[in-house]
Amino acid sequence: MGYHCAMSTVPPPRRLAREERTIAEMIAMYCRGHHGQAGARDPGGPCPDCAELMAYASLRLEECRYGAEKPTCAKCTTHCYKPAMRECVREVMRYSGPRMLKRHPVLAVAHLVDGRKTPGDEG
Ligand SMILES: [Zn+2]
Repeated sequence: MGYHCAMSTVPPPRRLAREERTIAEMIAMYCRGHHGQAGARDPGGPCPDCAELMAYASLRLEECRYGAEKPTCAKCTTHCYKPAMRECVREVMRYSGPRMLKRHPVLAVAHLVDGRKTPGDEG
């Protein structure tokens, strides 16, 4: 009776698609710089390791039903990222983040991974 359960709140698909695309580009960029896309299955795609990280990240993105309403992952009760994967994504963001900021809402994606405010804020 007028009570809104969090389960019924589905994030707008468009927003999810944008964030998924953003993180995919960030991972591809990181792979170009670090792995040379070695053993990539698709031309221009990431190496198998990064492809795995990408698949994992987009899966987490889809399953994160808190969407825009969630606080930050630090406070989130659902642990989307396994610690190891989380470290990988943070590493990717450290590298690709500043390069992506011009074109993409990278902070929106960073929000999904970590509750930090802005890069370089701790100093
Ligand atoms: Zn790679």
